[in-house]
Amino acid sequence: MTWIPACAGMTRTEKLRFGYFTVGVNDCSDEAAFSPSILSRGGHLSELDALIQLLAKLPGLGPRSARRAALHLIKRRETLMMPLALALTHAAEAIRPCPVCGNLDTLEPCAICRDPERDNTAICVVEDLADLWALERTGAYRGRYHVLGGTLSALDGVGPEDLTIDRLLARVKPDQELILALNATVEGQTTAHYIADRLAGSGVKLSRLAQGVPIGGELDYLDDGTLTAALNARRAL
Ligand SMILES: [Zn+2]
Repeated sequence: MTWIPACAGMTRTEKLRFGYFTVGVNDCSDEAAFSPSILSRGGHLSELDALIQLLAKLPGLGPRSARRAALHLIKRRETLMMPLALALTHAAEAIRPCPVCGNLDTLEPCAICRDPERDNTAICVVEDLADLWALERTGAYRGRYHVLGGTLSALDGVGPEDLTIDRLLARVKPDQELILALNATVEGQTTAHYIADRLAGSGVKLSRLAQGVPIGGELDYLDDGTLTAALNARRAL
């Protein structure tokens, strides 16, 4: 197999930018980088080892899939690896959490907070950004958001001060609706109850997502908890 150095054609500044001098191999010469013979030199990690270890930290990727991903990237150096490296660098420099809602964007406040077309009478509270993206994909909600950054968990030592609850309570107004779109887990529901308690008597209208039969779901396959929740949340036809 021919090993292609990822740093070939890079200037010294670019090599520094991509961390080629921080993983233990000081000389990024063409014969050095990604050569299997230098996987470990003097107790330091080679670029390839460092890449695999970093990839293995990504959710859903273990060491085996990280090795496959690294090989895939190296084989597609020009078309995938370099554009990905540049995109990662630009994203790391430009993307910041919105100081209002916690969404990620390159501008402050974020595009959702700035959008004058969106409904100002509702704030949808979610645990993390993936939930915001999931709701945005539906296209069914046109209000504002608030990302908590997690849920309360005594077991994991997560208290209200670790989340953006105070910022939420400071921004919500009495004429707004707060949609608590939290996960149907013990932690999610504990967090929802905590926020509801803190807002008691404030005049803020509180709601939460319905729980029950999924679209296309068959009753026979539902667990008892989901079926009970569906029964309790039944609606008049
Ligand atoms: Zn925002």
